Amino acid sequence: LIELRDVNKYYGQLHVLRNIDLTVARGEVVVVIGPSGSGKSTLCRTINRLETIESGRITIDGRPLPEEGRGLARLRAEVGMVFQSFNLFAHKTVLANVSLAPVKVRGLKKEDADRRSRELLDRVGLADQADKLPAQLSGGQQQRVAIARALAMDPKALLFDEPTSALDPEMINEVLEVMRRLAEEGMTMVVVTHEMGFARSAAHRVVFMADGRIVEDRSPEDFFTAPASERARDFLSKIL
Ligand code: ATP
Ligand code: MG
Repeated sequence: LIELRDVNKYYGQLHVLRNIDLTVARGEVVVVIGPSGSGKSTLCRTINRLETIESGRITIDGRPLPEEGRGLARLRAEVGMVFQSFNLFAHKTVLANVSLAPVKVRGLKKEDADRRSRELLDRVGLADQADKLPAQLSGGQQQRVAIARALAMDPKALLFDEPTSALDPEMINEVLEVMRRLAEEGMTMVVVTHEMGFARSAAHRVVFMADGRIVEDRSPEDFFTAPASERARDFLSKIL
């Protein structure tokens, strides 16, 4: 579904993505880990074309990423992204946050979008919070709204960039639980996270990045029991 071939990206002189080859099949859950600055966020952002690349090829469903305009809006609907900071509209209700894009981008009627949004809020356990403002919710609840908002576009895939890093510990699990359920339902997901429990239990593959390269791309069992590279062993020894 998602394919990157020999992708390179620079920020000025800084070579942040180096010869990245990555394939994510439909229904696959890929967890991306690695030290700070290794290029994990940049990788996510290039897939969604929030960043351009200098060379290589990225395709979604066999089609190259659109350059701009309407194609780009469609891409961002097809490949949703959930960030560390939830980026909700502060002055809009939870329900409006979820229904806004389906109305604006996909042209759904407001009643239909609202009905669908209530179903999605129910799915993430927030059926009773629809009429509140984001600030009236906890961080974990806000992140679940952000996930419902991404789902409202019927995405083919979802990218998560450290979705639980900004949350208090007691709220992390409620978000991971929603993600785990999505994974079980067959959603294609690329997840940058430091939650190794999630990686072990939900990921089909673990991609370990260092210095802009993919150093390992293996099953969680293999990766966690016997990391092949010194970099990964070193990284794991610091976080586990
Ligand atoms: P972290 O775990 O801290 O989130 P990361 O693996 O997500 O790190 P990136 O954010 O992808 O790393 O950054 C990769 C490299 O690119 C870093 O050296 C970073 O400083 C640099 N970088 C990121 N964004 C920009 C930017 N907009 N302009 C210049 N350099 C950037
Ligand atoms: Mg990052």
